[in-house]
Amino acid sequence: MQINDKSALVILSGGQDSTTALFWAKQQFMSVETISFDYGQRHKIELDCAKKIASIAEVPNKRVSLSSLSQLSDNAMVNETNIELNKETSLPTTFVPGRNLLFVTMAAAFAYEKRIPNLILGVSQVDYSGYPDCREETMKSLEKTISLGMEFPFKIHTPLIHKTKRETVLLAKELGIVDVLKFTHTCYKGQNPPCGDCPACELRAKGFAEVGINDPLIKSPFERGGTK
Ligand SMILES: [Zn+2]
Repeated sequence: MQINDKSALVILSGGQDSTTALFWAKQQFMSVETISFDYGQRHKIELDCAKKIASIAEVPNKRVSLSSLSQLSDNAMVNETNIELNKETSLPTTFVPGRNLLFVTMAAAFAYEKRIPNLILGVSQVDYSGYPDCREETMKSLEKTISLGMEFPFKIHTPLIHKTKRETVLLAKELGIVDVLKFTHTCYKGQNPPCGDCPACELRAKGFAEVGINDPLIKSPFERGGTK
C-alpha cells in the first residue's frame, strides 16, 4: 500500500478543539479518519461525543483502550481529585502526565498501518492550561521521534496551536460548524448542561462571549438527551 499524502488521522477527544480540528482537516485532506482513546477518564461522555461527532462528519472513529494510564498517576481527569494548581509542579491537577505523548504514538502506530502520514491534533498552547504536552516544541519533537522510530514521513498538524479560544470559535464559525459544537463535551466535572464554573467551562464561555455568539451547548442542552 502506498503512502497517501491526502489522508489524515485526527485525534478526536469529543471536545470543542478536536472537533474544530476535525472539520479543518476535512477541508485540507481528501480522506479523514479519527481515533479516540479510552484512558480511564472519569467522564465517558467524551467518548460518546467523539462517536457522535465522527458520524456527523461522516468519518470513521476508531476507539482504543489506554486504561493503564489511570493506574499510573493521580489526577483530576481520572480520579475525584480537586481541580486546582498542583503546588509542586504549578500545573493544574487536570494534567495527565504523558497523555498526549501516548496518544500521538498510538495514533501513529495506527496511521502507519494505513499509510496515513498526516496526524491532526486540536491542541493549543495559548490561554490557560499551560500543559507542556500541548506545546509546539513538544509536537515538533514528537513528529521527529515517531518519523524516526517508525521510519515513516509523519507530519503533525496543530491548526489551533497559536489560537486563543476566541480565535478557535471564529474558526468554527468560518468552517460553518458552530451547530456541531453542541455535541461536544468540555466540562471537567462531566456535567450536561455544563457546570459553568470549572476552568474548562469558563474558558469555553469566554471564547463564545468574545466572538459574540451563543454556545449551542448551553442554548440547547436538552436536545442531546441525558444529564451525565
Ligand atoms: Zn464545568
